[in-house]
Amino acid sequence: MPDPSHSGIVLKAEDIHVSFGGVRALDGAYIEIPAESFVGLIGPNGSGKSTLFNVINGFMIPDSGRIFAFEQEITKLQPWTRASLGMSRTFQANHVDPDISVFENLITGAFLNIRGGLFRSILQFPTPVRDQKKAAGLARAVARLLDLEKVLDVRAGVLSFGAQRRVEIGRSLVSRPRLLLLDEPSAGMDVTEAEHLLRLIKRLQSDLGLSVCLIEHFVRTVFEHCGIVYALAEGKIIASGSPMEVQESAEVKRQYLGEDGGGNHA
Ligand code: ADP
Ligand code: MG
Repeated sequence: MPDPSHSGIVLKAEDIHVSFGGVRALDGAYIEIPAESFVGLIGPNGSGKSTLFNVINGFMIPDSGRIFAFEQEITKLQPWTRASLGMSRTFQANHVDPDISVFENLITGAFLNIRGGLFRSILQFPTPVRDQKKAAGLARAVARLLDLEKVLDVRAGVLSFGAQRRVEIGRSLVSRPRLLLLDEPSAGMDVTEAEHLLRLIKRLQSDLGLSVCLIEHFVRTVFEHCGIVYALAEGKIIASGSPMEVQESAEVKRQYLGEDGGGNHA
């Protein structure tokens, strides 16, 4: 199972600036993810959450600012290099392949952190039998954790929406990440389903000793389950700390929870 990083800071992003033309998507944003922590990232639509994930996982190089992970600077490293260091990311939109089985979806995760590995697996270039066996074993172990054992041979496209999201998270886990970045895994779910998924993610996080950073729009659920919360607004971190500290922040209340701090959605 994933090789956890037992101490220190897994990821640190400092003073990140990203502009798209005239739009300042990130304006001095920062984040720190301690080892084996469950960090929530909240903020209104368009506040820069996905862009921050993009610079963390290497889809985007920031205009300025620095990123460190696994005890090295990674600001300009390619996404696949970051993946091979132990970083895995899921997306706001569903990326499960509906036409292949759950098992096949999961097993592609094993090849994600090798440059060219996914293409090699798609093109079916030979991989050593030993590696394939190891990957299959991992895929089964992950399926057990995510309650997908009974549907391993089912075509992913026929599963419920929630089960497809679990397949996507499972595929990330099969790549044996140390740091898992989840971009709104509950998108499209109601609050009860989202709550259920978050409990599952939290259990994985603590059982596997993972570091998880989660973007989630059900803010109350984040406050309940995450140990550390960062709140973004207009590309700036307006509050960070324990859920209690962030909830109590006047800036958070004013900017996007409403004056009374109510409202489940950010
Ligand atoms: P969030 O994930 O918090 O909803 P995003 O990071 O997706 O926010 O977007 C932050 C801001 O940057 C928004 O104003 C968005 O329209 C803009 N933006 C994001 N990606 C791009 C892009 N590729 N090109 C132009 N503008 C973008
Ligand atoms: Mg987003």
